[in-house]
Amino acid sequence: MKTIREQKWATTAKRGCDACRCGSTAGDHLEFATLQADWGPSSQHDGEKYEVRLCESCFFGTLGYVKQLRRSHVMFEDDYDPSADARLGLIVENGNHDEDKT
Ligand SMILES: [Zn+2]
Repeated sequence: MKTIREQKWATTAKRGCDACRCGSTAGDHLEFATLQADWGPSSQHDGEKYEVRLCESCFFGTLGYVKQLRRSHVMFEDDYDPSADARLGLIVENGNHDEDKT
């Protein structure tokens, strides 16, 4: 009997990446990122939930877009630090968690 998590992973493996539809497995492990949203009452999309699975390539393409979007919003601020954009979202590197890397 498969656990709910195993069933979810099997479904994900069959579905692949939601952007390019490639399988994103490495051995027995799935390698994918999840983009999620659960919009509340004060949003325009109240009651909608999203879950998009991305392979490594599509994840970093999406992250690159987010970095560009961020840069367009903050690049003219006095305290803008472009070096911070390079590590946007990175919270663990080489197995080491660092709060300052967010
Ligand atoms: Zn993909």
